[in-house]
Amino acid sequence: MRLGIVGGGQLGRMLALAAAPLGVECRFIDPSADAGARVAADQIVADYSDQGALLELARWSDVVTFEFENVPAEALRAIADETELAPSARSLEVSQDRAREKQLFESLDLDVGPWRAVDSLESLEGALAEIGAPAILKTRRLGYDGKGQVRVTSPDEAAAAWDSVAGAASVLEGLVEFDREISAVVVRDAAGTALAYPPAENVHREGILRRSHAPAPGLSAELADAAVGHALAIAEELGHVGVLAVEMFVQDSRLLINEIAPRVHNSGHWTQNGAGTSQFENHVRAVLGLPLGAAAPVTETVMINLVGGAPAHADVLATPGASLHLYDKQPRPSRKLGHINVVDFGGRGESLADRAARLEALAEQSGS
Ligand code: AMP
Repeated sequence: MRLGIVGGGQLGRMLALAAAPLGVECRFIDPSADAGARVAADQIVADYSDQGALLELARWSDVVTFEFENVPAEALRAIADETELAPSARSLEVSQDRAREKQLFESLDLDVGPWRAVDSLESLEGALAEIGAPAILKTRRLGYDGKGQVRVTSPDEAAAAWDSVAGAASVLEGLVEFDREISAVVVRDAAGTALAYPPAENVHREGILRRSHAPAPGLSAELADAAVGHALAIAEELGHVGVLAVEMFVQDSRLLINEIAPRVHNSGHWTQNGAGTSQFENHVRAVLGLPLGAAAPVTETVMINLVGGAPAHADVLATPGASLHLYDKQPRPSRKLGHINVVDFGGRGESLADRAARLEALAEQSGS
């Protein structure tokens, strides 16, 4: 079987690496000639607006999927006219737009924090008066890893905030005082069969995910079930095929949905070493119509992102239960270069928490 992937960064790379043992051939399109997915797939070096290259990919592929949600709408249309696209354009279009996402959550009666769509300085000032400061202004489109967002700590900062998003259509969100952040990662196939990984607890700094811990320690069964139920409801409503991640804030006994990603997600990387089947393999299985693999955890896992730099490989590999996943990317501040999964392998000596804390300190010293 042949799987086409739009995007050849780390997610495309890990999809291709997971596809190989299943005998699935991968080919991907990416404008950067040194894209990390080359390790396990053929590359078409081309821009996402190159219709000829998109057609070439689509004609070669049984199914085309993507590793990021900001794929231009025309590119999706060009692919979907030629072959199967999974997830469908609908999943992408909703997740490309923060306002549409929130409307979807509300239509399913899921809680979200206070928010308003804003499209001018006046509407931003009005929204600030209603929601109050502090708040976060986020562009509706094209934001990731904290980009396209600015904190507004008082109404006087409205004009500066509006300038900093360059007047792009945005949403204003009230700052949620959450107890913790979690995400639910689910996978659904075209027949509607769906499986859920246990929710992970996520820690962000400067808008970038630093650590995930799965299953989320101490999360009550009620909240875990609710989080999974919300993610499955969203997947069902979208008719989603593939992996879907839903990020949420936990506030007392409430779950407020933050955003969705219609693809494999950083907070699901722990599944490579900690679950019956990784999110990457299950995405490949789902989009190609193959039976899904067990999503149950086989151990407790901590995933540590390597941001801006990476510790000496030997220091990581000398730690029992630690696996290194590098993306073959040049170091740059705030760039995700790889991650470490640390599992509770049941050995003696340092506990999982201690090993994870030590590796996290190493990751922080070497990174940004
Ligand atoms: P996002 O790009 O929306 O996923 O935001 C990245 C991170 O910024 C989130 O995971 C939170 O840690 C933080 N954040 C985003 N929106 C809010 C909010 N409305 N209230 C509090 N923290 C937020």
